Amino acid sequence: MKYEVDQLGFYGRYGGAFIPELLHKNIAELQEKYLEIIESPGFQRQFNQLLCDYAGRPSPLYFAKRLSEKYQTKIYLKREDLNHTGSHKINNTIGQILLAKHLGKTRIIAETGAGQHGVATATVAALAGLECVVYMGEKDIERQAPNVARMKMLGATVKPAKSGSKTLKDATNEAIRDWINHPQDTYYIIGSVVGPHPYPDMVARFQSVISEEMMQQLAAQTGRDYPDRIIACIGGGSNAAGAYYHFLDNDAVELVSVEAGGLGIDSGHSAATGVLGTDGIIHASLTKLMQDNDGQIIEPYSISAGLDYPGIGPLHAHLISTGRTKVLTATDDEAVKAGFELTRLEGIIPALESAHALAALPKINFKPGEITVVNLSGRGDKDLATYLKYLKD
Ligand SMILES: *Cc1c(COP(=O)(O)O)cnc(C)c1O
Repeated sequence: MKYEVDQLGFYGRYGGAFIPELLHKNIAELQEKYLEIIESPGFQRQFNQLLCDYAGRPSPLYFAKRLSEKYQTKIYLKREDLNHTGSHKINNTIGQILLAKHLGKTRIIAETGAGQHGVATATVAALAGLECVVYMGEKDIERQAPNVARMKMLGATVKPAKSGSKTLKDATNEAIRDWINHPQDTYYIIGSVVGPHPYPDMVARFQSVISEEMMQQLAAQTGRDYPDRIIACIGGGSNAAGAYYHFLDNDAVELVSVEAGGLGIDSGHSAATGVLGTDGIIHASLTKLMQDNDGQIIEPYSISAGLDYPGIGPLHAHLISTGRTKVLTATDDEAVKAGFELTRLEGIIPALESAHALAALPKINFKPGEITVVNLSGRGDKDLATYLKYLKD
């Protein structure tokens, strides 16, 4: 595979593991063992069984007839919104909780911004009967009260990060500090294709079930096992990585990544890292990130909490810089409009994150026979209050 990670954890010039010395042992253990464990038949059996019986996979591939008529082409939706806990995030947390068990770990930590990854982690920790601590910025705890309540109900301890901007990057620092202090018994579940090697590759592999199913479903429904185009939104990039994975080497498949344009990419209030980012180190890997001239991270902004991340996974930094993926952006308003469009045409309320992927549709010149798959990463129940504000205005 052309876009596979190398021995040291790099995709081209991006990736690696820029970690504090005190974490060296933990990361080295993961780097040495992850492939052998997750590729073993026993692990694969457990993983696939939970994906099927617990998460509800395979997720349907749905031909969106009315949406297709509107854009004069063939549009299919990969329904990750129908998974347990409402998004693709459960695919990854199931994989990592099984890995934690195989490594003999008894305590789980995670960090979360919007709370979606925190909920997915608290869910699998309950399933596995393991202690779970989720770090979350103090400001995010206030903004995301329903998800904080879910995590608590699931038995997790939610610890506030009170330093800095009191958001995701501060929660990440707290999680790393915790891991340094509990190297023996603790496993750190990262929620996207970010972080030090081997996390980006590991998370991409767990999410690759999305494109694996897509191949089979496309073959059954269209007679061809690949589409002409795949569209996915990008926060850290895990749903996109999963949707692209088995098509990365197939140049007949155009890969479109949609980032959060916020109030507009020139407004200073966006999360369009692939467009605005420059090379630097964030979350222990070298990638594109939004930073000022002094290397200080610029607070990202998006109406969608799940896309509100100042970096992007190193795989995506590589795919963008080599031209393999095409980056589009969608503003808050464009995403909300696309969310309403899908709801009214198909009766599906998408997550605001996924609505960004849908907002790419008016920006693409479709040919009538072409097949496009939009990865519908999550459902919009959590975003109703935001949608309804637009309905009133
Ligand atoms: C978290 C989230 C995202 C963004 O994360 P990626 O790692 O980029 O996939 C997108 N959609 C939904 C529904 C999410 O919860």
